[in-house]
Amino acid sequence: MQAVVLTKPRQVSIEEVAEPQLQATTDVLLRLSSTAICGTDLHIYEGRLGGGERMVIGHEPLGVVERVGSDLVNVRVGDRVTVPTHICCGFCPNCVHGFWAQCLTTNPGKAGAAYGYPGMGGYTGAQAELLRVPFGDANCLRLPGEPGDSWEHDFVLLADALPTAFHATELTRVREGDIVVIYGAGAIGLLTAMCAYMRGAAQVFVVDAIPERLDKAGELGAVPIDMREGDAADRILEQLARERTGIAWRGEEANLGATVCIDAIGFQARDPHDYSVEKPTTVIDDLARIVAPKGRLGIIGVFLDSDPRARDEAAQHGEYLIPWGTLFKKGVTIGMGRDDDKRYNDHLRDSIVRGRINPSAIVSHRLPLRDAADAFTKFDARSDGYIKVVLEP
Ligand SMILES: [Zn+2]
Ligand SMILES: [Zn+2]
Repeated sequence: MQAVVLTKPRQVSIEEVAEPQLQATTDVLLRLSSTAICGTDLHIYEGRLGGGERMVIGHEPLGVVERVGSDLVNVRVGDRVTVPTHICCGFCPNCVHGFWAQCLTTNPGKAGAAYGYPGMGGYTGAQAELLRVPFGDANCLRLPGEPGDSWEHDFVLLADALPTAFHATELTRVREGDIVVIYGAGAIGLLTAMCAYMRGAAQVFVVDAIPERLDKAGELGAVPIDMREGDAADRILEQLARERTGIAWRGEEANLGATVCIDAIGFQARDPHDYSVEKPTTVIDDLARIVAPKGRLGIIGVFLDSDPRARDEAAQHGEYLIPWGTLFKKGVTIGMGRDDDKRYNDHLRDSIVRGRINPSAIVSHRLPLRDAADAFTKFDARSDGYIKVVLEP
């Protein structure tokens, strides 16, 4: 079968590889109709996660069940399904409690497994024609319709992107009337804006530096803030102050700020003064200023405990200088980490099917799998309006 193989940092090739086989009686084999490229694939592509050479990458599949192991109870050949990025067993203590991304058995010796991801269990990735899914009953999410229908791009986002965005709003308990500030207008930041509005947020600001992504944020009803046009935190605080004129109690100025702040960028954030330079703490520095006292902070952009190519020694070990005192003084609640995709994906499927949310609005490109190398180059450069790419195997 054809698959996207990482050959060396910043290079993928489309190669003929061996077809996956059922390895256990609880496995499922999927034939994929869509498979998306994620910002996390770019971290792998850029060599920042270490390893991964000669690996089939990808972790956002949608397809139809082609074969099932003899011990499958629920999944049938012909079912249209997606599976979460994080591979779960369904029976370990973390899976039982709904913390699927930290499954204790699928990546022996560590918590958390995923497809096509260095250090997460060695599972073959999903940017391919076929995918082996372990523990099929626990992982498969059944979907209505058929390949190529109007839900195709909505459902492919159920594997990772949409649950990750929803996780951000769950970590921060977004509710009616919240003022939400999101750093990052990639697929996750944009979908987080969508989820925040679905949960009743009064206003959502989205901060980024790429015009096409900011335009998309505006289309979704968010207030786009271009970080290249001056201090983003100052401008958001000024706008919030203007909008509270006439409704705030006298002396309430100290409470100005956003009730919810979300980092959807992570360790590869850029220095707003020099966009060519990475500055991983730039987002938390801004969010500590923007968040209101008793606000909630959600960190869903990826951070690593080992990043040999980071600029300083502390960052190489995932250690950063952050404004801890400010966050403590404000009594901020912080939530972070990988999303427990399976915890949300059935409810999100139902919201899609009932027309409550339309995540495919952020998909910018659909390309044949054979064009993956070009897609990676352009997506990595964020050129030509590349926001979210779906490959067709
Ligand atoms: Zn992803
Ligand atoms: Zn488990």
